[in-house]
Amino acid sequence: MIPVITIDGPSGSGKGTLANRLAEKLGWHFLDSGALYRVLAFSAQESGIKLDDIERLVEHALVMPIHFASAIGQESTHVFLGEKEITTAIRTEICGNAASQVAQYSPVRQALIDKQRDFMKAPGLVADGRDMGTVIFPDAALKIYLEASPIARAQRRLNQLHAAGLDANLESLLVEIEARDLRDKNRSASPLKPAEDALVVDTTNMSAQQVVDRIWDLVAQTFGVA
Ligand code: C5P
Repeated sequence: MIPVITIDGPSGSGKGTLANRLAEKLGWHFLDSGALYRVLAFSAQESGIKLDDIERLVEHALVMPIHFASAIGQESTHVFLGEKEITTAIRTEICGNAASQVAQYSPVRQALIDKQRDFMKAPGLVADGRDMGTVIFPDAALKIYLEASPIARAQRRLNQLHAAGLDANLESLLVEIEARDLRDKNRSASPLKPAEDALVVDTTNMSAQQVVDRIWDLVAQTFGVA
């Protein structure tokens, strides 16, 4: 059995940072499942496919030449579409929103399942997303669900975007985050919600390091690592 930790939650809840740090500390693989939906939306638009054309989105999801370059223990993942690096291009809020539109369709989600499960390799996997614990890795040994207030999440997104050299403002981020939450939580296909056996942690008043420390204790207990 390959050990899996799932980290789910809304945008800006801190799951990406936590998942990255845990993967780094453990020397395990890391899956950023949101990047798959972002790449699909980005690539479909480049190919002239409309974001509500489910049939063509599914076909495209199955053939798009997506490639992640992330060495074990390395914090950031580089994302490629064919030869073209799109790591930064997919991080915009516009792309996040487009991702959330294509992600609402069950056939599209089905088309991406194998690509996600392929990440489950020895020595282990930390998977970050919305439905990692509920749908993609239901047997994961440790499931975490992070949440935080919308304003705290908007502020974190603003900091991340600025750090990536992208422009944004807090008010419009808040509006976009709330619209995306609403769509992600209310869709019928794999809605954003904690798995029944997930530990729910509110990170509003916690630093990234505090979140890592809190969860690391659990990881140590669950997997017997020091
Ligand atoms: O996590 P990230 O912001 O990159 O995700 C972009 C969008 O992709 C989310 O708003 C959500 O709609 C979708 N997504 C999803 N299931 C996942 C990961 C992301 O539906 N496992």
